[in-house]
Amino acid sequence: RLGRRAEEMSLKAYVVGGFVRDLLLGKENQDLDIVIEGDALAFIKSWETDGCKVAVHERYKTGTIVFPGDKKVDVATARREFYEYPVALPKVAGDSLKHDLYRRDFTVNSMAISINRTSWGTLIDYFGGRRDLQSRQLRVLHNLSFVEDPTRVLRGLRLKQRLGFEFEDNTFRLIKSAVKGGLLGLLSGTRVKNELKLIFMEEKVYPIVLEMVRLNIFEALFSGIKVDRNCIRIVRRLSFFLRRLRYDLPDIEEDVWLAFLAAVIFSSADWVQHATLDKLHLSKSNREIVEKALDDLGTAENAIGGKGMRSYEEIYLFLRDAPYVTALFWAAATQQWRVRRRILLYLTRLHRVNPILMGRDLVELGYPKGPLIGKILEELLLARLRGEVETREDEIKWVKS
Ligand code: ATP
Repeated sequence: RLGRRAEEMSLKAYVVGGFVRDLLLGKENQDLDIVIEGDALAFIKSWETDGCKVAVHERYKTGTIVFPGDKKVDVATARREFYEYPVALPKVAGDSLKHDLYRRDFTVNSMAISINRTSWGTLIDYFGGRRDLQSRQLRVLHNLSFVEDPTRVLRGLRLKQRLGFEFEDNTFRLIKSAVKGGLLGLLSGTRVKNELKLIFMEEKVYPIVLEMVRLNIFEALFSGIKVDRNCIRIVRRLSFFLRRLRYDLPDIEEDVWLAFLAAVIFSSADWVQHATLDKLHLSKSNREIVEKALDDLGTAENAIGGKGMRSYEEIYLFLRDAPYVTALFWAAATQQWRVRRRILLYLTRLHRVNPILMGRDLVELGYPKGPLIGKILEELLLARLRGEVETREDEIKWVKS
């Protein structure tokens, strides 16, 4: 439909970037990016009458179409910027597409597929993306790529791990000189935060962090930071725990990156930790999560550590005041295996414990609506943690007594 509409409006439309890369690799990718040669704004707005929600960015000539059923498509106008160089006029695409693709990060991300009816499915590959995809290499399009945008170093490390690719030799050399030349230090905190967040939300964070440490990336981003073996051990444990906990705690997903952030600054001096968090402009709540993780590890160890038995109730009552990611961080950072085991017990099981009876059952039993009901349910929950009730009948008996 997108291609047909473009055709009707005499525009050329292409699918570009990650979608094309993943299509050729046979991988699923839900992010459809379309580039239009011509007026993308008119194209986007034309979908409004088809029951789609649209949003446009007049200045950048980009926008989004959300189809019924929530399928989202990003649409951009092919951009022609800065670079003028000899171009052989392509057959399918106009040369503004070539310029647009030349601005991209790696050759494997610089391919497009035409979606106009007459040329539907034609692959446009000016820079050898397909060849690099076959030889599993990440290659920049030109030697100034990282100077133009140093976040590409971080994107590259993430993509390399995700796809299981290698950097092409010259690209790897350019990465090392970008780091040495201090380019990463020039990035704004917000851009660094966005890229770090994407890295820390990947499925396999540990190998990316290892490579970042080997290449001194953290030092280049945050002056004075010390990512030592202890930090790396915490990152490894976090990755390991998350493989399992993602299923027990789906809500944790959004904040997981904060635990990794706490891990990489764990061994740095206080002032470096603060300066790093300042630079990243974390929201107040995110900052509190990281600070609590770092500052209260000792408190957590005192509260639920030690050789003696700790009741489920004790573990629950202490940990329920901490965000899940903070507790997860403590589990990974503590040197005490008992603390680790107790936190993991909480994160996998105890946090989910709830009475069988609900508020309305208590109303039926004759209790007045209001705060008392909440109090009884709370007490019932603790009774359950102590093992005093099991069935619904036990609970009713317990409430009545
Ligand atoms: P992901 O699966 O992580 O979303 P993606 O390749 O689809 O991977 P996006 O961030 O959605 O990544 O970006 C879409 C496309 O835009 C990329 O494929 C790439 O061509 C281009 N791109 C994104 N960021 C940059 C950048 N900093 N420099 C150059 N090109 C970029």
